[in-house]
Amino acid sequence: MPSIFTKIINGDIPCYKITEDEHNFAFLDINPNAKGHTLCVPKKEVNKIMDLDEASYLKLMAFSRKVGKAIESAVPCKRVGMSVIGLEVPHVHVHLIPLHSMKNATFQHKEKLDPAEFEKIAEQIRSQLK
Ligand code: 5GP
Repeated sequence: MPSIFTKIINGDIPCYKITEDEHNFAFLDINPNAKGHTLCVPKKEVNKIMDLDEASYLKLMAFSRKVGKAIESAVPCKRVGMSVIGLEVPHVHVHLIPLHSMKNATFQHKEKLDPAEFEKIAEQIRSQLK
């Protein structure tokens, strides 16, 4: 069965999309640690990051850097943290999290956003990629 992220990439489940290229796809995390929390996901469905082939890994990192720089320009924060951690979804994903304090890196404190706020922050990040 395809992962929830494959369903998002295929357009079977909606998301607040940021961008995509041939190999990777970026969208807002639905339960964000902070406003602008974004997931970068390889289109190829692989469970664990250490199992990605080297070329795919490097492409994911370059893609995540590009998206991370756009987040840093769009979202006031001290810096954007990058984390590959978590056990919920068996499909590699890089968390890009605007950090205001280390609280945002703990995955214990979540921010509630309504759809208009999600769409607004997604558009602000997208505009930095143009
Ligand atoms: P992890 O595997 O990193 O522990 O958790 C998966 C991450 O994906 C969580 O941060 C969760 O909020 C996010 N997530 C899970 N399901 C969905 C979904 O359907 N849409 C979006 N946008 N994010 C999701």
